[in-house]
Amino acid sequence: MIKIEHIGIAVKDLEVSNKIFEDILGTSSYKMERVESEGVSTSFFKVGPNKIELLEASDPSSPIAKFLDKKGEGIHHIAFAVDNIEDEIKRLVSLGYRLINETAKKGADNKRIAFLHPKSSNGVLIELCQDEQ
Ligand code: ZN
Repeated sequence: MIKIEHIGIAVKDLEVSNKIFEDILGTSSYKMERVESEGVSTSFFKVGPNKIELLEASDPSSPIAKFLDKKGEGIHHIAFAVDNIEDEIKRLVSLGYRLINETAKKGADNKRIAFLHPKSSNGVLIELCQDEQ
């Protein structure tokens, strides 16, 4: 793992939350992106070497919609940057960790991503991400 790449926060209303995080961080969102395959609309903020990713459900059957129903707004996942996502997936699977994605898929912000199952990691949803070449 290289660093914490971003922290994902589930929000009910992206517009409202954009304003909140603009106020808190003193900077504007640098990117808003809809990821159809995940049923989410995202908004990214830079915080030093790290980022905050706001996630709003754009589809009522998406994992984010389910998370919001069950737990309400709040921290959804922590993303770690990796050099080689395939190697990292193999390494964690070989150690017995359960992954939600055993093959990397396309995520927001030009990343290839895979999630570990939170049951494998103390209830914390962990995302591995690698910059798209
Ligand atoms: Zn993320």
